[in-house]
Amino acid sequence: MLRLGTRVINNCLQTSKTFRSACCYSNGATHDADLVVIGSGPGGYVAAIKAAQLGLKTVCVEKGSTLGGTCLNVGCIPSKALLNNSHYYYMAAGKDFASRGIDTQVTLNLPNMMKQKNNAVTALTSGIAGLFKANKVTRVEGHGTIQSPNQVVANRSDGSKEIINTKHILIATGSEVTPFPGIDIDEEKIISSTGALSLTEVPKRMIVIGAGVIGVELGSVWSRLGSEVTAVEFLGHVGGMGIDMDVSKTFQRVLQKQGLKFKLNTKVTSAAKTSAGIQVNVESAKGGKAETLECDVLLVCIGRRPFTSDLGLKNVGIELEPRGTIPVNERFQTSCPSVYAVGDVIKGPMLAHKAEDEGIICVEGLTGAPVHIDYNCVPSVIYTHPEVGWVGKSEENLKEENVSYKVGKFPFSANSRAKTNADVDGFVKILSDKETDKMLGAHIIGAAAGEMINEAVLAMEYGASAEDVARVCHAHPTLSEAFREANLMAYCGKPINNI
Ligand SMILES: Cc1cc2nc3c(=O)[nH]c(=O)nc-3n(C[C@H](O)[C@H](O)[C@H](O)COP(=O)(O)OP(=O)(O)OC[C@H]3O[C@@H](n4cnc5c(N)ncnc54)[C@H](O)[C@@H]3O)c2cc1C
Repeated sequence: MLRLGTRVINNCLQTSKTFRSACCYSNGATHDADLVVIGSGPGGYVAAIKAAQLGLKTVCVEKGSTLGGTCLNVGCIPSKALLNNSHYYYMAAGKDFASRGIDTQVTLNLPNMMKQKNNAVTALTSGIAGLFKANKVTRVEGHGTIQSPNQVVANRSDGSKEIINTKHILIATGSEVTPFPGIDIDEEKIISSTGALSLTEVPKRMIVIGAGVIGVELGSVWSRLGSEVTAVEFLGHVGGMGIDMDVSKTFQRVLQKQGLKFKLNTKVTSAAKTSAGIQVNVESAKGGKAETLECDVLLVCIGRRPFTSDLGLKNVGIELEPRGTIPVNERFQTSCPSVYAVGDVIKGPMLAHKAEDEGIICVEGLTGAPVHIDYNCVPSVIYTHPEVGWVGKSEENLKEENVSYKVGKFPFSANSRAKTNADVDGFVKILSDKETDKMLGAHIIGAAAGEMINEAVLAMEYGASAEDVARVCHAHPTLSEAFREANLMAYCGKPINNI
């Protein structure tokens, strides 16, 4: 079932007059609101704008000096800027451009590459400030603490406070880097993903702890710019949780061809700075066989954890789940009925688009609309080259769940556009139900997988069969024709253009 469209409801809530009895801190201001959103990442800012569009008097409290949260400031946006530009550099400086008849002499200007990234971040974060203004969302700077079910206090760094009385509270405080026990991050030599977005020179040797999504993306950036990158991964595969193993194997092979090295089934036990760099002690994940690796920069990329520090959850009786997430019901409501939570701070994949969708439907739900999200239709993308995108079930999932399925696979080496572009690594793999032909999962590794995967999401949201997609006209020559052919394979086992 698809979500219903947005209904604009201006008069379904009490106005904030009810809450005008607020006491005021001597050095602060007092606001009344229908909704206070704490956090302005993709979950929070999108929810705040939607709420204001639906007629709610909305305040967004953000502790950072810019809006946009992890995603815009130190996540999706800056990493994609560096991935894009380092890819151009890699093509120009390596053999790729020359093989296309473009002879160049290329030098890296890292400060300018960082400047372009910073410009993209500034344009987008200030764009949200503009959207807040246009939609009449009140922005309050400060660390938000929930005082009671209907009150949030914003504590500013100068010691002043603002108090907001509100009908509803939406927590969208996101996540932070998970620290590695015993390894202190200085963001210069031992860095997190945040430091990896702002290095001032290309390290000769880099070790990445973790070959998940963020590890391989940022490892790719610095490898392309000239660093010798080795990723140490506890699991036996690259690409993190949820990736189809077929895709992961090809992914690893292609990244290795580009120069990345992997030490799989290996755990880091400790690391220490020395005069020559950093010594990283590793051993086999199963124990035994230890060795010491050396690098100039160590990137710790072992994941992220929900951020709820000084949020005042105890004041409203909210207890965290074992992994630090805030428990919510299907309407994103916490155990305190006036308090809701969305995004990285609740369970589910830590993805910007998941946070956005939750933010929108949560506030629609506040105004009486139905609340529905199908987490099986939330796509994942790794923005390396080739990109990797997937949605729905992997083959491993289907085997575990004892579902009978068909596989339709089509390589980009048989796709005319990929051949024209001389960029043929990867394939599209469609998994569909053996009985009904309903699409159950789509797994793509290829140049435009991050765009193409949205076609699979649309198909799956509408409950399409592989035949449905195979019968849809696709423009020629496009990479998306490989998606159609893979569906044709899943549906009848006979592709048309398998050259
Ligand atoms: C390097 C990197 C790359 C990534 N790339 C992608 C990608 O390509 N695609 C993708 O989908 N996801 C990506 N992510 C993940 C994505 O950034 C997160 O899933 C997303 O930002 C979560 O949104 P959110 O709104 O839940 O929280 P966040 O974006 O973390 O925002 C939370 C906000 O709340 C504020 N805050 C916290 N506590 C308080 C408080 N008490 N008072 C006031 N303000 C508070 C914080 O300052 C922050 O601004 C990436 C993450 C990283 C680190």
